[in-house]
Amino acid sequence: MADLHQPMTWHGGNWQQLSQRLADNQLPHALLLRGQSGVGKREFALAFAQYVLCQEKTSGMACGRCRNCQLNKARTHPDLLLIEPEERGKQIKVAQVRAMIEFTEKTPQQGGFRVVVLCPAEAMNISSANALLKCLEEPGRDTLMLLVSQQVSSLLPTIRSRCQQVLFSRPSTEDALLWLKKHVPEDEKARILLQLAAGEPSTALRYEQEGLLEQREAMKSGLAGLSRGKLTPAELALNWQAYDQVIVLEWLCLWVQEMIRYSTTGQNKYLETDDMAKMFRYIGDRAGSRRLLNTLQWLLEQRAIVQSQVTLNKQLLIEAVLGRWLALTV
Ligand SMILES: [Zn+2]
Repeated sequence: MADLHQPMTWHGGNWQQLSQRLADNQLPHALLLRGQSGVGKREFALAFAQYVLCQEKTSGMACGRCRNCQLNKARTHPDLLLIEPEERGKQIKVAQVRAMIEFTEKTPQQGGFRVVVLCPAEAMNISSANALLKCLEEPGRDTLMLLVSQQVSSLLPTIRSRCQQVLFSRPSTEDALLWLKKHVPEDEKARILLQLAAGEPSTALRYEQEGLLEQREAMKSGLAGLSRGKLTPAELALNWQAYDQVIVLEWLCLWVQEMIRYSTTGQNKYLETDDMAKMFRYIGDRAGSRRLLNTLQWLLEQRAIVQSQVTLNKQLLIEAVLGRWLALTV
């Protein structure tokens, strides 16, 4: 059986405010949890949904023991519905929203609330959004809808105006690391993941689950092979075919930034990536900060191109990137 969901420690203020409103019977029927990606909004929404359904809310958190909590631990509570795209990055289909409407029209099976978590709200297409609107206008009794969004501006204004918005802040690096280390105990690994995830703890955890640390190891030895002349950019690009190009570019940007900090100050402490410090010092000394800055600029442009185009010759792009990397060392 899984654990109950838990709000992130840095969202304690939001938790307190919403649980107080629940206790005072002052919760609106729809909340829009907004804030940047990867800070724990989805986890908060699920934790709060489980809390709303708990029958023994004595400690300010779900008790974990009552019948409703047991159902929630088994992820089979009939009065909690999670609506997400069937695949990451895909749309929430109108059929899913229709199923949700049906759900909110039924009588709660456990006699309390019916709670819907819809995440991310911007994944709804226009028909899904219109179907949802109907539900927001005439919510069933004892229904709580938790919409999660990192891109509120792309939602229909009519959806925004029918929800009360709650803003979720990002954590400090210390808080994010502390949380991440519960899942990724090794300090160095947690730090590397958080760096790649630009300080977003949930994103960092997802990266770990997607095997990005292993990918980093493979990229590291590939780059070493490239500088030693054991591999050509074309051969290495072939090995990297399976990788997400944006992630490849993110790694390289991070590494070039480290070299820039090292190169402009001459201080080793800026080589944060211990296991790659030797390679970075070598390249940094040879390339100099001006060339590194130009390369960083160019890499950022390539990333923007990758993000804006659907069809692209992956092999050629990565080959060009690796050629550029190799040129730094000569
Ligand atoms: Zn409970």
